[in-house]
Parts: sequence; C-alpha cells; structure tokens
Amino acid sequence: MSKSLQAIRGMNDILPEQTPLWRYFESTVAGLLDTYGYRQIRTPIVEFTELFKRSIGEVTDIVEKEMYTFTDRNGDSLTLRPEGTAACVRAVLEHGISGGGQVQKLWYIGQMFRHERPQKGRYRQFHQIGLEVFNLDGPDIDAELIVLTWRLWKLLGIRDAVKLELNSLGTSEARARYRDALVEFLSARLDQLDEDSQRRLKTNPLRILDTKDANTQAVLVDAPKLEDYLDEESRVHFEGLKARLDAAGIPFVINTKLVRGLDYYSKTVFEWVTDKLGSQGTVCAGGRYDGLVEQMGGKPTPGVGFAMGIERLILLLETLGQIPESINRQVDVYLCAFGEQAELAGLALAERLRDRLPNLRLQVNAGGGSFKSQFKKADKSAALFALILGDDELAQQVVGFKPLRGQGEQQNIAWDALAEHLEASLAQA
Ligand code: ATP
Ligand code: MG
Repeated sequence: MSKSLQAIRGMNDILPEQTPLWRYFESTVAGLLDTYGYRQIRTPIVEFTELFKRSIGEVTDIVEKEMYTFTDRNGDSLTLRPEGTAACVRAVLEHGISGGGQVQKLWYIGQMFRHERPQKGRYRQFHQIGLEVFNLDGPDIDAELIVLTWRLWKLLGIRDAVKLELNSLGTSEARARYRDALVEFLSARLDQLDEDSQRRLKTNPLRILDTKDANTQAVLVDAPKLEDYLDEESRVHFEGLKARLDAAGIPFVINTKLVRGLDYYSKTVFEWVTDKLGSQGTVCAGGRYDGLVEQMGGKPTPGVGFAMGIERLILLLETLGQIPESINRQVDVYLCAFGEQAELAGLALAERLRDRLPNLRLQVNAGGGSFKSQFKKADKSAALFALILGDDELAQQVVGFKPLRGQGEQQNIAWDALAEHLEASLAQA
C-alpha cells in the first residue's frame, strides 16, 4: 500500500470547524485597526534570503537555524518569510512611500515560516498580524500601539489573562557600551555558563539575558544592568511611554531581561504574555527599530511595530472559553424542495430572497432526497428556519415556513411576503 500523503510536520490545516473563530478574530482586529487609522499592506511570502540576513541579523536564532531557504530555478537564494517587518521595510523603501518623512501606519496578516520544534503554540507555519509605523519617533506612538492592543484584549474578552512586560534597550551606542560590560563580566565566568550562552557570548551576548538555563540565570543576578547604561534620550523616551501608559490606565511590569530575539530593536521593547498557555506564553511582541531602515539602505527613518501570534491567541480564546456563540451559526435558513418543479421554483425564490436580504445565510438543499432526509439535513445545518416547497405550495405560490428551534408552528407564507416575514422572524430569533 502506498504511504498516504500528509501535511508537513508543524504546518496545520485549519478546518471548517475552526475557521469561524479565526475569521472572528481576524475581523475583530481588522475592524479595530481601521478605527485607529492603520492601512493594510500585502507583501509576497517569499523574498530574497539576503533581505532577512540583513534585517533580522546573521547571528539570530531565526537566520542561523530557523529559515526555510531554497534555491530557485534561476539560482537565486530565496526564503519563506519568517516574520513580517523585513518585507514591510523593503516595500516601503522600494516604493519610496516613507523616504520624504511621510508617516506610514501599516498592518499585515499572513503565514510565517520557521523551522522550530513543533509543540503547542509553536509551529513551523504560523500566522501573525503585525503593525509597523514609520517616521514617528516619540513615545506617543509606542503608547498607541500598546493602547490599541489593550483595547483588542478587551474586545476579545482576554484582558485579564494577559500582562504587559516592558523594557528599554537604549540607543545602539548605549547598547554597545552595555554589551562590552556584559561580555567582560560573563567572560570572567565562562565556565559557569551553559553551552548556548557560551556561544552567544561571541555572537549575540544580549540574548544571554533571556536564557532559560538556571545556572546561567544565577550568574546573571550580579551582572551589569542595561538600565544603568541607558542614554539620556532613551531614558526620557521610556519615561514618556510609561507616563502615557499610566494615563491610559494600562498596568505593566518592567522586565529588564526582555531583549527580544531580533537584532534590530532599540529603545522600547515589549511583550504581552499569558500564563494560560504553558511555556509558549508570549502572544504579542514588538518594539522600536529606529536604525533598521537605514541599515537596509534607506534614509534614517524611525520605526516601531509589533506582531501577534494568531495561533496562540486562538488557543487563549479557546482556553478561556471566550468564543461568541454567534460565530458558529452559519445558516439562518434551509430551503427544502421536493420534485423537479419545486426545485426550479425554489432556486428562483432563493435568488430573489438574496436580492432582498443580501446578508441572509440561506442554504438551498442540493442532491434531492425524501422529505425525511431533507429535514434531517436542515436540522443538522443548525438553521433557525426551514422553507418547504412541494407541489401543494407551488400551486398556491406559498412556502411552508417551519421554525426549527421551537419558535412556533409551521405556517404558509406567500412568496411575495416571504422576505419581510423572514427578516422579522430572524430579528426576533
Ligand atoms: P518565541 O520567544 O516564543 O520564540 P519570538 O520572539 O521568536 O517568540 P516574534 O518573532 O517576536 O517571536 O513573533 C511575534 C509573535 O509571533 C510571538 O510573540 C508569538 O506569539 C508568535 N510566534 C513566533 N514564533 C511562533 C511559532 N513558531 N509558532 C507560533 N507562533 C509564533
Ligand atoms: Mg522564536
């Protein structure tokens, strides 16, 4: 027997049972972003590998070991995007839409690809919604990004389950001074560090701060603190952000170990974390990246953004039971027709109904079937009402209007009066 085909490990199908929740989530976010004046951008899923090396950084986990990279037929090295910021910056540069200092408030949604060990909340294909703002350098816009996520958590009913962690990484100069101090401190204690951290000491020492290794964590207790190396400008920026979060009534904790996985952050970094999902607890993360656009060949352009992991937020909604009842109702009305003539009339009637009630979720029976089997399908569809068309109804130009969820008796409704009757009945249901 031949081996059956399967999806790639860590890449999930999202089945029809799950898509209503995804669509609810996505439309809630999109609607909210509209109200804050963000505009969507769509970029390709594949980019030149070089783009990610240059933006994310050669010595990050993503570029070192997580990218899906391949050579195409032209011999070009291409990579499935592991995150969204790089392509946004590339697109903004390529189309010259921020080079003159224009403010851009952008958002994107889509699949990302990282070759990680699949587990709950961590996949090889996953989805993010992300925001990027260009040409605003103040803490007011950092605050707006956080404020709007705070509102999103309220809309989704998960506000009590997430917590904001905040840090400032300072300017790149401040960080360089700190890096030297940290490297000096840790080099003197090299034998006490785990293997990963020993390697990072040479490549990306700041990442050692968020190590999971207990021994290394113990060594770090007395290590130099990034906050003591912050430059004045970053300090003022950070205070400005904190004041705004206080004004908006958003609780936060300062986590001085928060450094984020990507190279390009400066000043503000933040994460929304939950303790409801086990070790994959970060549902949204981001920060400021004032040097990135220049690093990628553009004019100096401040930038700030974040990305949220849709799978993790969906898991959180499920875990907390925050799933609106209404999203699972996909059919309002089910039309049953018996016999060829009734089917023809039924089709015409259904299309007239759709003209009158464009949002009506009307399922027309397909595949024929007896009275009993069509009713069974109507019931299974979870529709609120069944419309019945047989020879008698046809002769009288009426439909049998049958409430399926115990809202009264079946009655005949004239075709001309059907749209109105249906609308009123649905409004009451
Ligand atoms: P982590 O520390 O969990 O690996 P990260 O710092 O690599 O996260 P980012 O690159 O900041 O993650 O991506 C933003 C968000 O995207 C994360 O907070 C998370 O919610 C989600 N995310 C990242 N990687 C994955 C993945 N492999 N599977 C599912 N969601 C992910
Ligand atoms: Mg990661």
